[in-house]
Amino acid sequence: MIYPWQQSAWQQLAAQWANRPNAWLFTGRRNTGKTTFARHLTQALLCEQPQAGHQPCGSCPSCHLFAQGSHPDYYELTPELPAEGESGRKLLQIKIDAVRAVLSPLLQSSVRGGLRVVLVQPAETMNIQAANALLKMLEEPPAAVVFLLVTHNKDRLLPTIKSRCRPFLLPAPSAEEALGYLKTHGSHDAAQAEALLAFHCGAPLFAAEPEQDALREELCQLLAKPRLLAMLDYAAAFDKQKWPLAVFLDWLHKWLADTALAQQQLPPLYYPQHEAALFQVASRTAGQPLFQLVQRLNRLSPYGRHTLSVRMQIENLLIDYLAFWQNKPSTY
Ligand SMILES: [Zn+2]
Repeated sequence: MIYPWQQSAWQQLAAQWANRPNAWLFTGRRNTGKTTFARHLTQALLCEQPQAGHQPCGSCPSCHLFAQGSHPDYYELTPELPAEGESGRKLLQIKIDAVRAVLSPLLQSSVRGGLRVVLVQPAETMNIQAANALLKMLEEPPAAVVFLLVTHNKDRLLPTIKSRCRPFLLPAPSAEEALGYLKTHGSHDAAQAEALLAFHCGAPLFAAEPEQDALREELCQLLAKPRLLAMLDYAAAFDKQKWPLAVFLDWLHKWLADTALAQQQLPPLYYPQHEAALFQVASRTAGQPLFQLVQRLNRLSPYGRHTLSVRMQIENLLIDYLAFWQNKPSTY
C-alpha cells in the first residue's frame, strides 16, 4: 500500500520500470511515508504476478511471504533499537556487522529465483564503516539485486553513495491531505490534529508520543509565563524521561521561531494553539536577544543526540530564556 499523495510518484516510477537502476535513493520530508513507498516497491519487484502499472498482486507466494515479513530475498537494514534498560539517549546507527550480515548472502543466488531487494532506512544512520561496506557493493553490484535507500537527510550521506543511486524525490501531502489523513487515522479531535500537524511541520505520519506531547504542552505554558522555580522543576522532570536533549532543543527552537514570527506580526507556524501567548511574549521582547538565544541553541544542537548533562543544559537554557523574557524595551 502507498499513501494517496504518492499515487503520481508511483506512476512516475512505473514509467521508469523498463530501465530501472540497481539502486534508488528515495528522498523527501520526514514522516511522509517514504519507507512505506519503498516497501511497496519492494513487494512489486518481488511479485510473481505483477499487475497493471507494475502493482504487486497481493496474492502470489512472494506477496504472501512479503506480507508476513518472511520473504527470503528481502533484506531491511535499519538501526538497532536500544535494548531494554539501555538509555533512550543512545545514538541509533546502522553498524558494519549488520551490513555484512545482509551483504554476504547476496553473493549466493536468490532463494525464490527472482530479484533480491535490500532496503536501507534511514540511510543516513549508517556509520562510516557501514556506509563504506555498502558502497563497495554498490560499485560492483551482484546480479539481480536492487538497493533502495531512504533518507530525509541526504546531506548526511556519502557523496560516493549518492552518485551510485538514482535519486527519486517523494512528495509530501498538502496541508489538506495531511489533516484529512490525521483526522481519519488518529484518535485526535480536530483541534488536536491541527496542533500536532503544525508541530510536526505538516507531515502526518509522526509516531504517537502522548507523553512527549504532554510535556511539550507544559513547556509552552511555562514559556508563556516563565518562573524560575517552575523551570528548575521542569528541567528535572524532562531529565527523568531519559529523552535526548535534541527533543527539548527542537521544542524550544520551534517556540523561538514562532516568537520571531510574532515579533514581525506574523502568525505562528508550529504552535498555532498558543498564538495569543506568543504575541504577548513578542510584545515584551526584542529581536536581537532572541537572535542570540537561537544562536545559542544552534551551537548546542550538534550535541543533542549525545549523552551530556541534559538537566543542566535545560536549566541553563530556561534561565537564559527567562532573562530574554524579562527584557524591557529600551525605547523609553
Ligand atoms: Zn504478487
